[in-house]
Amino acid sequence: MRRSCIIVTVIGLYVVTASEDWAYWGIHGPPHWPGLCATGKKQSPINIMSEETIKADLGALKFIRYDFAATGEITNNGHAVQISLYGVPIHLEGGDLPSRYTLDQMHFHWPAEHTVDETRDALELHFVHYDNKYGNASEAAKHENGIAVVATLFELDTQDNFDLMPIVKAIELVPKWTGKSTAMMRFKVIPYLFLPKNHTTYYRYNGSLTTPECQESVMWFVFTEKLTVSKQQVNMFKSTGTSNGTLDFNYRPTQAIGDRKVYHRLDGYSAVTCARSNLAPIFFSFFLIRLWR
Ligand SMILES: [Zn+2]
Repeated sequence: MRRSCIIVTVIGLYVVTASEDWAYWGIHGPPHWPGLCATGKKQSPINIMSEETIKADLGALKFIRYDFAATGEITNNGHAVQISLYGVPIHLEGGDLPSRYTLDQMHFHWPAEHTVDETRDALELHFVHYDNKYGNASEAAKHENGIAVVATLFELDTQDNFDLMPIVKAIELVPKWTGKSTAMMRFKVIPYLFLPKNHTTYYRYNGSLTTPECQESVMWFVFTEKLTVSKQQVNMFKSTGTSNGTLDFNYRPTQAIGDRKVYHRLDGYSAVTCARSNLAPIFFSFFLIRLWR
């Protein structure tokens, strides 16, 4: 009994210290984040210039068991609202992923972290997955391509997004930050509802976690198609409590792309390219035959 008390105390202290070390504004804000956050060359988020992306068919992503209704818990960690799901593991495969990845948690940023053609949307959802071979997300984050994050952007709309309601309602369960506050969600969550209808078209680049320690181990997939969110719903996210008032925003500014490439995955794009290149020898043969005659 005594031993478990000591362990709980130590974990509690760790959470408080880690959460107070960085913030989204003030003297602990993004310009002051340490380590790779300051020195890295493959940092996230970025501004995606749609005209400068390289069109490619990397293959569609496969969302395995995303359509299951799962029970989960919601956590206000002082930096975001995070949802962890229980039950059968949910997996991500396909694209240019080297293996099978497991969904670890989903969390939100308001407004969005990634911008497309300098437009910043109202909300961004990150589905965080880790490569199965590493067993957990913190170990996977130490390795290249260890983490795969799928991002959905939500643009502002006059109507509420009905699918977001279970999450918006659950935020009311953890309005205060008390080191870390967690509650069981009253409604089940179906991750599939937070993927846009067209979830085969996405932007793809290599980057980092967008929070300290900003490890550069992330394969990013940002959907081209967006979902919607109302201003009232965004206000619920903004009501999330921190150690210092409410969390008005929790996005990291965009980082330099450097010499990285951003791909735009389009269904069947390379198939068209292949068909064209297959035609070239046929035309050439036809030309030779004409010459022969
Ligand atoms: Zn995130």
